[in-house]
Parts: sequence; C-alpha cells; structure tokens
Amino acid sequence: MRGWMVAGNWKMNNTTGEAALLAQSVKEATSMVSGGDVVLAPPFTSLSVVNEIIKGSHVKLAAQNIFSEDKGAYTGEISPTMLKDVGCTYVIIGHSERRKYFHETDESVNLKVRKSLNAGLKPIICVGETEEEREKDITEFVIGIQVKKALVGIEKLDNIVIAYEPVWAIGTGKNATPIEAEEVHHFIRNVLGEKYGDAVGDVRILYGGSVTPENIGELIAMENIDGALVGGASLKFESFIGIIKNVTERKT
Ligand code: PEP
Repeated sequence: MRGWMVAGNWKMNNTTGEAALLAQSVKEATSMVSGGDVVLAPPFTSLSVVNEIIKGSHVKLAAQNIFSEDKGAYTGEISPTMLKDVGCTYVIIGHSERRKYFHETDESVNLKVRKSLNAGLKPIICVGETEEEREKDITEFVIGIQVKKALVGIEKLDNIVIAYEPVWAIGTGKNATPIEAEEVHHFIRNVLGEKYGDAVGDVRILYGGSVTPENIGELIAMENIDGALVGGASLKFESFIGIIKNVTERKT
C-alpha cells in the first residue's frame, strides 16, 4: 500500500530563522501522524538548519533542485552528494518554475533523476501542462512525454514520486477540479504501468497547484491522488497543518 505525502515547497522564501521556527512548529504538530510522509523543501541556505530540527522525527527533508554532476567547476550548483550530506531524503526535480525561468528540459530532468537515484535521493518529479496546452486538448500528450522522458534509463520505480502540477494552477488560486486532476493522475499511472507493470501501484502521485486546507479534502478523496505538493499554503503553519490534517483523515 502506498502511503500519503504532503510536501511543502517553500521556494525562495524564509530566512534561516524563519525556516527554523516553521520547521519546529511543523515537527511538533505532526508528531502523531502515521501512514505517510510530511516533507519540507526549504531553500538551500536553510537545509542544514531545518535538518537539525527535524532529525529523529518523521518529517523528511527535500531540496528544491539538484545538479547532475558530483563535483567540480560548476559555479552556483549543488551536487547530489552535498544534498545527502545535509540530510535530504527527497529532491524536487523539474518544477515548472525551473523549466520556465532556468530552461530545464525533459533531458536535464532525466539526468537529474538518474543522479539523484544513484546518490540515494528520492526524486519528486514535477510534470504539468500549460493553460494553452490544456485548451488545445493536448494535456495527456504533453504529460505522457514529460513522464516518459524523465524516466529514460530508470529500471525500477522504487523511490520515485511524481507530482502532477498543472502550470496554470501554480500560485494562481485556480486549482484543478478533483475530476480534472484524477483524470491526469490515472493517465500517469497508466503510462507508468506500460513500462513498469504492477509496480506502478506503489508509486505516489501528488497533486500540486493552489492546494489549500479548503480544497484538499475533495482532491485527496480521489483514488489516484496520494498527496500534495504545496507552495504558497506551506509557508503558513496553519494552512500547511490544515492540509496535512485533511490528508491524514482521508488516507489513513
Ligand atoms: C508549487 O510551487 O509546487 C505549488 C504547487 O505552488 P502553489 O501551491 O502556491 O500553487
């Protein structure tokens, strides 16, 4: 049985002091949850601080990005070994903001996925269509390509998490309806099933895009939605905990 996951992507927010306070509160408030993972993805500068706080608890640490080389002359980049060293379990790869502002491609996403797995990190691979692609009715085509290309050369689905994040829903306050989201999650599971067979039943597929405590209940009730990747609402303790509470009530 796959467990649930709620991951908070803090993006470029929170100083080390703010990160420490939020991480401490999340750790305390989730000490009794079970059957899934609470994940925090602070900026690189706060990974170490947050790791110290959550160490020994069941809150897990994620990075928001990774580079696909182990070391060397790559100014400004962070390697898989470095992320392991500061306590990361997960790493978000291919977020639409990275694809849009930093020109990440399906090929670079795939390289990062491979490197992460080799280093013992679990990738949370983000896929999603733009508004224009949805209007043109090519959502499945786009998502199918993103999923397949991200997993080129990956033999097992163990340790892989997929996050379906429609680009038009990220940070806009306009979430996908539960039915729209479930359709794509179901499609993703089928695409994975073609390559990996029954193993696909264990893969967690998260929904991301304007998730709030108010809308998560209906989304998480869907069969193929296993949790949420949360941006804006993960920056406020009350809303992040509200989301976790709703997920745990329905999935445990
Ligand atoms: C995200 O950045 O992954 C995200 C889903 O953001 P938001 O929840 O703010 O839409």
